[in-house]
Amino acid sequence: MQRVAVLTEPDHVVLEDREVPDPGPGQVQVAVRAVSVCGSDVHYYDHGRIGGFVMHAPLVLGHETSGVVSAVGPGVSAPAVGTRVAVEPQTECGRCEQCRRGRYHLCPDIAFFATPPVDGSFAEYVVVPAHRAHPVPDALTDEAAALIEPLSVALHAADKADIGPGIRVLVSGAGPVGLLCLQVALARGASAVAVTDVMALRREAATEYGATATVDANDHESGLAAIGAAIGQADVVLECTGVQPAVDLAVTAAAPAATVVLVGTGATVTLPLDVVQARELVVKGTFRYAHVYPAAIELAASGRVRLDDMVTSHHPLEDAVGALLAARRDPMALKAVVHPAR
Ligand SMILES: [Zn+2]
Ligand SMILES: [Zn+2]
Repeated sequence: MQRVAVLTEPDHVVLEDREVPDPGPGQVQVAVRAVSVCGSDVHYYDHGRIGGFVMHAPLVLGHETSGVVSAVGPGVSAPAVGTRVAVEPQTECGRCEQCRRGRYHLCPDIAFFATPPVDGSFAEYVVVPAHRAHPVPDALTDEAAALIEPLSVALHAADKADIGPGIRVLVSGAGPVGLLCLQVALARGASAVAVTDVMALRREAATEYGATATVDANDHESGLAAIGAAIGQADVVLECTGVQPAVDLAVTAAAPAATVVLVGTGATVTLPLDVVQARELVVKGTFRYAHVYPAAIELAASGRVRLDDMVTSHHPLEDAVGALLAARRDPMALKAVVHPAR
């Protein structure tokens, strides 16, 4: 048997004993060593839903996962038992139009960890397709390997925006994903990266991670002026908040023909259509990622993004709730990590 932490209803997590899942054909079983908590986990804990994704039954949270391969199913030659891996937490149908076109993250039948009704990784063991267990080098800690998941979100967003040398980037929001977008933009050669946030402590964090400038987003006009003074108009905007005033500020700071990538999830927000049209902005949605785990692992292993520094607390599985509440208890908390196998 194994222990899992189950969200039975909002605000209520219990430890349960469950059968250890056996790997089927083409699958591997992973002993989970680190699971970093995501805003989406916290949202399910608080509300039992995120937009159209609604919990109708108990749900195991956690999707940012690393561990060690502990068993392999029939027909699996790699990764071998004992291999340390970052787990890409999605399994697609492999047959539909989106899968056939390589956009497996857009598969309508995608099974993604901790998204109802699919259980996540607040568990001692999980089973995934072998090709979703990506080997990591010794240079990466278990915590960094878990953070490959949100790093993949940032890398996918940077891909959408074609960030490269000489590009001026505005990152809207200095939460974990914003700080990862900042680091990825710098690693890809952006000439200047300004970061906005309403919280002074978050802006300080952005400075620590190399932001060219940070901007107080509490006031639209002074914020816009400060962005202009720091980087001019942005060639690329990575909007990581999903919050209306921040979206307004970020879009208005874009240069003509700039690309605006909407990374932050929110309810319905409005866009300043006059700005989008008059500047012919390219507005792109982004949903999770596809095909980026290997590149994210290479980038992290190269030392050009700092993942371990983002870990602000560690929790045993019994204290999954403490991990979920960490951000609420400490405004400087970035990533709480649960360690099921410890
Ligand atoms: Zn996440
Ligand atoms: Zn599919």
